[in-house]
Amino acid sequence: MKNIILVGAPNAGKGTYSASLIKKYKIPHISTGDMFREAMKKQTPVGLEAKKYMDEGNLVPDEVTIKLVKERLSQPDCKKGFILDGFPRTIAQAEALDNITDITNVIVLDVSEEVVLQRVSGRIQCRKCGAIFNKTNIPPKKEGICDKCGGELYTRDDDKPESVKERLAIFAKQTAPLIDYYEEKGVVGHADANNPHPPEVVEEIIGIIGD
Ligand code: AMP
Repeated sequence: MKNIILVGAPNAGKGTYSASLIKKYKIPHISTGDMFREAMKKQTPVGLEAKKYMDEGNLVPDEVTIKLVKERLSQPDCKKGFILDGFPRTIAQAEALDNITDITNVIVLDVSEEVVLQRVSGRIQCRKCGAIFNKTNIPPKKEGICDKCGGELYTRDDDKPESVKERLAIFAKQTAPLIDYYEEKGVVGHADANNPHPPEVVEEIIGIIGD
């Protein structure tokens, strides 16, 4: 069983590495950010609630987020494991997760603030399938078009510089303490996410998790 969490600042590359890791381990990628964006697109009650927080770069309340993840982890495709990307982000969420299942690996993606700010200015995401590209180091084959599904590529609202600064501050204050929380459980490994070549970072992560 591989119950994996990726922890890293916004734009550390969680979504990009996850796309490769799910192919290796054949387990689902669960991104709370993608789930909220999907809910917003469909204008569900959760989506409308989340929008109020997301547009400002703030965290969606724990109660809403925990419920969403609990439902997702109870699906049959999570039996052999999962990659959680963007959850937990607070100690309360980590404690709630402990009550749902055991975590086998927490991969901390170490990245400098300078690299995050550089990457954020180039990040573009597919409106349809959520695939992530970067104008500088992971460009799509055709400008503005997703390589995978032909969907439109756009810049996320919360990638505006003001929101990114807010998200970095929230990461330092609320999410970074999670690293100590999991260090105590002996499940943490670190990968160098400053590396501009995603396949090399993925190899490093696989080296930590094993086959
Ligand atoms: P992400 O795509 O992971 O950067 O998430 C985008 C936004 O979704 C965040 O800035 C939050 O507003 C919201 N979000 C995603 N995951 C969580 C979480 N675990 N707890 C609270 N809010 C979240």
